[in-house]
Amino acid sequence: MKKTDILIVGSGCSGLYAALNLPDDQQITVISKSDLESNDSFLAQGGICMLRDDDDYDSYFEDTLKAGHYENDKKSVEIMIRSSQDVIRDLIDIGVDFARDENGQFLFTREGAHSHHRILFHEDITGKEITRHLLAAAKAKPNITFHEYTTLIDIIETNNICYGGVVQKADGHIDIIQAKTTILATGGVGGLFQHSTNYRHLTGDSLAIALRHHINLKNIDYIQIHPTTFYDPDTTKRSFLISESVRGEGAKLYGKDMQRFVYELLPRDVLSKAIYKKMEEDHTQHIWEDLQTIPKKELESHFPNILKHCEEKGYNPETECIPIVPAQHYFMGGIAVNYESKTSMANLYAVGETACNGVHGKNRLASNSLLESLVFAKRAARDIERNGPVLPDDETLDALIQAVPLDRYTNVKQIEKNYHQLVKNAIQAQRDERGDRDAHETFAFNHQ
Ligand SMILES: Cc1cc2nc3c(=O)[nH]c(=O)nc-3n(C[C@H](O)[C@H](O)[C@H](O)COP(=O)(O)OP(=O)(O)OC[C@H]3O[C@@H](n4cnc5c(N)ncnc54)[C@H](O)[C@@H]3O)c2cc1C
Repeated sequence: MKKTDILIVGSGCSGLYAALNLPDDQQITVISKSDLESNDSFLAQGGICMLRDDDDYDSYFEDTLKAGHYENDKKSVEIMIRSSQDVIRDLIDIGVDFARDENGQFLFTREGAHSHHRILFHEDITGKEITRHLLAAAKAKPNITFHEYTTLIDIIETNNICYGGVVQKADGHIDIIQAKTTILATGGVGGLFQHSTNYRHLTGDSLAIALRHHINLKNIDYIQIHPTTFYDPDTTKRSFLISESVRGEGAKLYGKDMQRFVYELLPRDVLSKAIYKKMEEDHTQHIWEDLQTIPKKELESHFPNILKHCEEKGYNPETECIPIVPAQHYFMGGIAVNYESKTSMANLYAVGETACNGVHGKNRLASNSLLESLVFAKRAARDIERNGPVLPDDETLDALIQAVPLDRYTNVKQIEKNYHQLVKNAIQAQRDERGDRDAHETFAFNHQ
């Protein structure tokens, strides 16, 4: 058994940034189901939003609300936008490099549903640039310890107070990590879907654990489909994203007659529906995206990885259109949290994509998620520092930990299977309750 002050489950941008913002005198343990780099934070291509100046505040606020169908929590949106410059300053301090012009001023790009250019980027690998620096900074801190291939399979809870987690370690053994505070930073749910841009091991494990322990969830049927992923008939792999900023820079979408059929910068959900409709009318498995409309120099400097991926798949976007299909991409719902990322259970926080503070409403505005993950991870850290955990005396706590029935967790494969089904059922039940009949068949769950 291991004892730690703070257990962070997940090594994506939200988990790492929370770790970096916690006090140095706290022993922090970060666990990850896979290696430390295999998470969606490393995959983010397009960029991260920042409030450029006060003149853009109203427009940024309105764009976020409009994309979210005005179901957003307005205070969360305000917190996110107003905290953006502070977060970007932190990132620059640890060495993150955003694109700049020849005078050293930030360059800003634009994506679907943004009225203005307000997205910072690093080529088309912004997430990797941010998260590799967060990881390096966290690894340099002596109070932060990492455990790869270590999976949270349950939390330790009594009377709605959390005391850490039950994990399966890299060697397969089941163990306890006793923690005064636990932060769930386990990312999205893409691994539950047939087509998804997410890593396949991101299966909403925290949601299943939350459901079992009666922790409040929110909007778990709010799942974003990305309109443009590279069409690959092999669905066992995650779908490769063709970033929205490609359309922001002028790429066009065509049906099988090679004619435009839609305005390319519509909000993601509206555009995905239009693409599905077109595919149905055309009886095709994909549509086409034309990147030749982007100046060659811009295409090569801004999107080198997209070009590389297409070329590996046998397409040259500089001379031909590429096949495109929508896929599951982002989870707007999650474990319900307050503005400090606190869940309904004492000593338990949730940050990043697995949490829901209502900032995205029904649909996320592009490039708001890295920002949201970071802003609310820092708030969690501040709240933990300010308020501390609720703990019984040592003797009572020891007795509680001793009583954890570890033999219940030996069949991890079956537990995971049950968890996946539990989450799928809960999402479906919420959808049915809302009478949502819009979901397209490719939005369907996988059958694992
Ligand atoms: C292809 C792609 C492109 C994107 N582009 C952008 C973009 O341009 N801009 C933007 O703002 N957002 C973008 N996003 C969204 C954004 O990347 C994510 O929302 C964000 O990175 C989520 O960060 P996170 O820390 O919550 O989760 P992640 O980075 O996914 O990390 C989750 C972590 O949890 C761990 N984990 C999961 N379950 C368990 C468990 N049971 N036990 C232990 N560990 C566990 C995983 O191993 C991983 O370390 C993109 C997403 C994808 C997939």
